[in-house]
Amino acid sequence: MANRIYLCLAHMSEAGWEQKYVKEAFDTNWVVPLGPNVNAFEEDLRDFVIKVKGEKLKGKNGLVEKQVVALSSGTAAVHLGLLACGVGPGDEVLVQSFTFCASTHPITYLGATPVMVDSEPETWNIDPHLLEEAIKDRIVKTGKKPKAIVPVYLYGMPAKIDEIMAVANKYEIPVVEDAAEGFGSSYHGQVCGTFGEYGVLSFNGNKMITTSGGGALICPSEAAKSKIMWYATQAREAYPYYQHESIGYNYRLSNVCAGIGRGQMKVVDKHIARHRQIAAMYEEAFKDFDGIEFHKEMEGTASNYWLNTILLDEQLKVKNEDLAYAEAVQGAVGGAAGVVHGGGSVHTDCEPNRNVEAMRLNLDKEGIESRPLWKPMHKQPVYQNVPVYVNGVSESLFKRGLCLPSGPMVTDEDVERIIRTIKDNVL
Ligand SMILES: *Cc1c(COP(=O)(O)O)cnc(C)c1O
Repeated sequence: MANRIYLCLAHMSEAGWEQKYVKEAFDTNWVVPLGPNVNAFEEDLRDFVIKVKGEKLKGKNGLVEKQVVALSSGTAAVHLGLLACGVGPGDEVLVQSFTFCASTHPITYLGATPVMVDSEPETWNIDPHLLEEAIKDRIVKTGKKPKAIVPVYLYGMPAKIDEIMAVANKYEIPVVEDAAEGFGSSYHGQVCGTFGEYGVLSFNGNKMITTSGGGALICPSEAAKSKIMWYATQAREAYPYYQHESIGYNYRLSNVCAGIGRGQMKVVDKHIARHRQIAAMYEEAFKDFDGIEFHKEMEGTASNYWLNTILLDEQLKVKNEDLAYAEAVQGAVGGAAGVVHGGGSVHTDCEPNRNVEAMRLNLDKEGIESRPLWKPMHKQPVYQNVPVYVNGVSESLFKRGLCLPSGPMVTDEDVERIIRTIKDNVL
């Protein structure tokens, strides 16, 4: 049988830049969570995110002061971004419900409550109108404003960020953009993650670029960067001995991992181009295909198409639908390396439609990995008691959608095989 095709795998530069920088870390004995690779990686990231159509991003009073801090994960970046916005016990944070749990969990780390806001159908990201409704209603119900807003660039797709920022500015609530999946996506030329107060990036193994594990926080100024670096290194006071007046975290990126990141920055543009090429192939293939719809970027925006996604019409008949949900799945989704709870049941009260699960199983049998869309956080049992503002969009998308293999490890022949297998499995 042909090689197995995975959803999205890490891909190193052909020239081996990653190993060169990692070797440098060893050769110079910088095998610690700081050092030349960390500093240079942060500079590379900064140059990358503040570019607007070849120019430097401009703020109200000239060039923006944005800075980037490299951290041990994207989750850590969300955590520190919220902390820097002053989120604490008893506060509420408005967050896109249609996301991966790393957008919402850090809100709970801080003792605050996530308030889940549903998506609009065009970009699948937070609905600006529902966002404003939620703000007004929270003020009425709690007597205070939510402390922050967390929009997400799901699957890399740029959100309606102008509208989101307009609402945020109207109520003077800081925005922490979760651009973990949207690294290199842009909105009218401006890179996602640079619109809000803070912007989150992730370099996990399956993201747009990787440091094996890692992340970064885009900060509004040099001062904000210093504060974040201080929190990321256990919040040490200036004394000859350990003196602690605040709670800190051990969240800095290792100099070894930053070496991988520096190498990856040499190929990031190539990676994005490849993801977009694959998107164009899927789009073309499903353009006139009844019952399957490819999820496209909004006009004026450029998605990195981190993961390409399709929707299956509820009426679409797929082979082997009777076998869908026949047995409980062993192991967790997304490479948790066996670290899961056992004893899962076959069904939950909100799951992909039978034809979607059948298609996933059929593809799997042919050696093609696919995955349901992320289950909205407001449908997760762990968040059953938090306030929600829903319109049905994300739940409906979750039930109909599939993520398809994307990225530089996927060849043209692979894409053709995936498309052919999908079409062959439609009755
Ligand atoms: C991957 C991801 C993160 C952060 O991920 P880490 O794995 O901690 O680097 C945050 N938000 C979203 C939406 C993500 O997909």
